[in-house]
Amino acid sequence: MGVSCVKCGKEGEPITDTLFMGKLEAEIKAKVCKGCWKQWEGMRVMVINEYQVNLGEESGRDLVKKQMKAFLNLGEAADTAKLQENYKPPQ
Ligand SMILES: [Zn+2]
Repeated sequence: MGVSCVKCGKEGEPITDTLFMGKLEAEIKAKVCKGCWKQWEGMRVMVINEYQVNLGEESGRDLVKKQMKAFLNLGEAADTAKLQENYKPPQ
């Protein structure tokens, strides 16, 4: 059975890997398809570089989580202008 994805708006392949996202894990797997999660994984690297996120800090992990929710349309708004400016889709 596919997952009705809130990011791409399509019925997509479900995520089967463990994401280590704690309590967000179930929500992500219920609402996001595998392809869109892969896209986020690429984006996450950019977020970490762009904002010079220190994942050893709570605030850094929070920022990444916020950007993830915004990217995946999980219902939290975040300022992604800086990223969209620099985002180049894979060729
Ligand atoms: Zn999707």
